[in-house]
Amino acid sequence: MSTMLPAPPRPNTSQPREASQRSAPSPVKTRLTGTRKAIRAARKSEIEASTDGLTVERRFSNISWWAVGWLTMAHIVVLAAPFTFTWTALFVALGLHWLTGSLGICLGYHRLLTHDGMKTYPWVRYLFTTIGTLAGEGSPLDWVADHRKHHKHSDQVGDPHSPHEGPWWSHMFWLAFHTHNGDRAAHLNRWVPDLYKLRGMRMFDYLFLPLHILTGIVLFGIGYAIGGTEMAVSMLVWGMFVRLVGVLHATWMVNSASHIFGYRNYETTDDSRNNWLVAIVAYGEGWHNNHHAYPRMAKHGHKWWEFDITWMAILTLKKLGLVWDVVDYRNAAEKASKSSAAQA
Ligand SMILES: [Zn+2]
Ligand SMILES: [Zn+2]
Repeated sequence: MSTMLPAPPRPNTSQPREASQRSAPSPVKTRLTGTRKAIRAARKSEIEASTDGLTVERRFSNISWWAVGWLTMAHIVVLAAPFTFTWTALFVALGLHWLTGSLGICLGYHRLLTHDGMKTYPWVRYLFTTIGTLAGEGSPLDWVADHRKHHKHSDQVGDPHSPHEGPWWSHMFWLAFHTHNGDRAAHLNRWVPDLYKLRGMRMFDYLFLPLHILTGIVLFGIGYAIGGTEMAVSMLVWGMFVRLVGVLHATWMVNSASHIFGYRNYETTDDSRNNWLVAIVAYGEGWHNNHHAYPRMAKHGHKWWEFDITWMAILTLKKLGLVWDVVDYRNAAEKASKSSAAQA
């Protein structure tokens, strides 16, 4: 999603020129090129001075064509949904929505990779990272870097997706630009040094597209086996694209709606809110004010009615012995009282 832009097209050299012309560039041209370079350098240092390089640069050359193409394509395919509906494909889509949304994004990308809210075996970590990648929200490196940056600068200069810059910007349009402003390595070294140094995590940059193509083929194949071409297309459109777009908008609502609508349990320095609708569609992530107040806490529902289905999955994994040292406390005192209660 954040792959570097291809090199600009070369100038047209189809007109043959004399050797003397090539070897002796015009002094006027040289002066112009030098002036343009100086203007560009001045503009760059101006941006860096005013924003410390934190703000996403909304310039044409910083557009992420991979992200724009990928997200546009998924939304266009969804237009075929009413004509390809089957109940089987709807249930498959709902099941995969939960799998990739709750287990992949909320548990894997967010609470495990971004906030280190629990400890686990490397294979479990990579399993949940793979499921997270299948949600179509980009590589784990970019996702985690953007989200850590969001926590560090929440609703301030440097937040990649604050509704202060408009609700639709925070919901989806921020994705049209590279948050790294062209220097991805520096961005990743700054925000995700722990993951960027792992070859396994860097591999997901290359696995992103093949994993989705494979999923599409499997869905199409299963559909064809159980109901011929019609079911195959239905499984592809619903199981893949309706599900993808559904998970995307659920996650995006955390960034938009949960910073605009809802109540607050804690006085945080940002505008985060607890929003019950987002908590349902985004599997517990809608208790976003709780999360901003205590980011490492893997349990996002803090009041008894704040139901968090991803927390249920974490508890199940804990019972199975697949995760441990789960952060379910706000501070040291709460941790001590919980552990003494467990021993009593
Ligand atoms: Zn937030
Ligand atoms: Zn977070």
